[in-house]
Amino acid sequence: MTDMIPFIDLKAQRTRLNGKIEVAVMKVIDEGRYILGPEVTELEEKLAEFAGIGRALSCANGTDAILIPLMAWGIGPGDAVFVPSFTFAASAEVIVLTGASPVFVDVDPVTYNMSPESLSAAIDMVKADGELTPRAIIAVDLFGQPVDYPAMANIAQAHDLKLVSDCAQGFGNTIDGKSPLHWADALTISFYPAKPLGAYGDAGAVIVKDDDLYATMKSVRVHGEGSERYEYARIGINSRLDTMQAAILLTKLSVFADEIKMRQAVADKYSAKMGNLVKTPKVLDGYQSTWAQYTIEVSDRDEFRADMAEQGVPTAIYYPIPLHMHEPYAGYPVAPGGLPVTEAVAHTVVSLPMHPDMPDGDVEQVCGAVAAYSEKALAE
Ligand SMILES: *Cc1c(COP(=O)(O)O)cnc(C)c1O
Repeated sequence: MTDMIPFIDLKAQRTRLNGKIEVAVMKVIDEGRYILGPEVTELEEKLAEFAGIGRALSCANGTDAILIPLMAWGIGPGDAVFVPSFTFAASAEVIVLTGASPVFVDVDPVTYNMSPESLSAAIDMVKADGELTPRAIIAVDLFGQPVDYPAMANIAQAHDLKLVSDCAQGFGNTIDGKSPLHWADALTISFYPAKPLGAYGDAGAVIVKDDDLYATMKSVRVHGEGSERYEYARIGINSRLDTMQAAILLTKLSVFADEIKMRQAVADKYSAKMGNLVKTPKVLDGYQSTWAQYTIEVSDRDEFRADMAEQGVPTAIYYPIPLHMHEPYAGYPVAPGGLPVTEAVAHTVVSLPMHPDMPDGDVEQVCGAVAAYSEKALAE
């Protein structure tokens, strides 16, 4: 068995940053403003600048980043929020936490993102049923590729729904050079260490265009605080961001645009070498992905993964079981006709190593392993 190459390599990134992170962290320790310190404010400004639109509010993690705008809008019991089932638990969990009901929507077989047709059908179903009030859509930019936001925004407008971009994996992605926030009411980010823009712990942010929404979210972030200290205007949560994480993120944000290009270069090499061997990911014209994952499809996935491991290539599955098939989510409505695409792709997707510092040798090793596997599979 060959030595395993890394699936992601945060150490290589730290080496490339050449001591800058250590300096930034030491500065925070010296200054002693450990929570919501000056670096937090600076990060919020720089995030909005990077997105090119809106105002950013930092928070404790990417899950809270979705929960905070839902709470600010007063979404709760009796409300329906539309969300894909082919996503990480957080996208739907926050809906249940507010007391509202998730309504699971199918995805597109090419992009794995929410299908506008399935979404429209699900909204019509909920309206006809009359039990729940449609309030919001949470679109997830899976693996980093933007959802079809122009279509999502049309549907949201037609039904007077809020549109959230769960951009946990996709911050920095664009459609025709524009951030998803151009179409959405809120864009949410996770800085979990393995995300394309990762902290050295938990962190998150939400970017919005509306000043009133921003003010309400700011209150929700710190226990529903009012205009005076220890005066409370609403029920909130504790989702303050640590200053050290902000300092680390500021350092990484300064090279993030380059890193998206480095990820794109790895994806391009992969696609050129494996395009005729397996089903490689397709990014739509005019769309820029952050390549949080490079996800292919194979029919005999277990065999494929075992064979890759033998050849020193780690793989991962995002996500093996769609959310609506987990016990805590099984009782919630799904779009009319069910979620056939979601249930099919959950059996075939597999993600390959992807990080900006991936050496050519590692890329070659992955492509060589896939080629060797394909030859064997053809011979059988
Ligand atoms: C990672 C992730 C989240 C949650 O982010 P945390 O920072 O782990 O709370 C939410 N949605 C999606 C799609 C994610 O990938």
